[in-house]
Amino acid sequence: MTNDKKHFDSMAIHVDKQDSHNALVQPIYMTSTFTFDNMQHVDEFFELEREVYIYTRGTNPTLNLFQQQMAKLEGGLGAVAFSSGMGAVAAVLVSLLSQGDEIILHRNVYGCTYVLTDTILRKFGVNALYVDLTDLQQLEKQITTKTKLIFFETPTNPSLDVIDIAKVVEIAQKHDIKVIVDNTFLTPYFQKPLALGADIVLHSATKYLSGHGDLIGGVAIANDQDYLNELNYVYMGKLGSVMSPFNAWLLLRGLKTLGVRMRQHEENAHKVVEFLTKHPKVTKVMYPGLSQQPNHEVAKKQMSGFGAMISFEVEGDKNTAYKIVESVKFIKLAVSLGDAETLIEIPAKMTHRDFPEEEYYKFGFTDKTIRLSVGLENYQDIIEDLKQAIEAS
Ligand code: PLP
Repeated sequence: MTNDKKHFDSMAIHVDKQDSHNALVQPIYMTSTFTFDNMQHVDEFFELEREVYIYTRGTNPTLNLFQQQMAKLEGGLGAVAFSSGMGAVAAVLVSLLSQGDEIILHRNVYGCTYVLTDTILRKFGVNALYVDLTDLQQLEKQITTKTKLIFFETPTNPSLDVIDIAKVVEIAQKHDIKVIVDNTFLTPYFQKPLALGADIVLHSATKYLSGHGDLIGGVAIANDQDYLNELNYVYMGKLGSVMSPFNAWLLLRGLKTLGVRMRQHEENAHKVVEFLTKHPKVTKVMYPGLSQQPNHEVAKKQMSGFGAMISFEVEGDKNTAYKIVESVKFIKLAVSLGDAETLIEIPAKMTHRDFPEEEYYKFGFTDKTIRLSVGLENYQDIIEDLKQAIEAS
């Protein structure tokens, strides 16, 4: 029986059974290669005449199970797992861009995505433009015959801008441009970009999909089987960023509680936002659930929850912000997000360190923006810790 007609929480828990011993939890296929009975078997497999496993940097039953789960949860036809979120971003971009092409990205994207497009892809003759995609007229103006892709996160990292996926898709389709959405911050629990017309959705699986801060992984989901095969066998396979079957197994475990965790993350985030917005020293709070956040109405329309990523600023300069992140006690000063532990960081010095300092304002943050990934601890303890850290500053 397939489970793709069930509710999200049920689909995330139940996998399509494949183990011959009726194990409740599926085994991990920790193997690099698969054996053949004879040369006829070899021929059949290499000609892809059957559902086949040859070598894990291609296919593996544990990876397949994780890929199937992600495809179901995102509402896609299939998925490809990668060794990291950046592995997924790099393979997808390389698979769709050629020398002379242009890619339009939202003005703020994860720092390593920025380095990939602004430095590495430029070496191969691909031009990247960073545009404020909350301004759709700007987007229209920047499109040329060379534009092949539009790439964005929504909400964005770290300024939590919300981009209207359906509207961007409408413009892109008029020009035969593909749309790629990095759905790391919300997961399919709160947002399904494929249903809004995006061509490809990708994730840093390191974050909420895992949820426990114990692995690095990535995944891309799409609706075009030919493209998925090419992404899997040519780009993942030949660029070589294969996910470990052990990580796929841990991700299958993480996915079981994705809905429960996202609900609790979000509930905690609402309390923290309430605290921050009322604090006299806090000058700015960025969160898609706030009515003053640009595109709050779009957020309400395309997201079923606002997530648990918050950015904020306090009175004073960057040294005040540094003092806050150094004064927290059980909140941890770290990059990454989506873990059970609440994590705090300064994007300008950490996740977005490679952005040009004189241009931070163009990318939607400043040298004193603080980013918070609200965890699953009791919200009162999170607020208490933030309160004493802001007071200490
Ligand atoms: N996309 C977003 C929004 C991220 O925040 C990150 C990492 O922080 C990545 C992609 C890259 O993922 P990974 O660190 O798993 O390579």
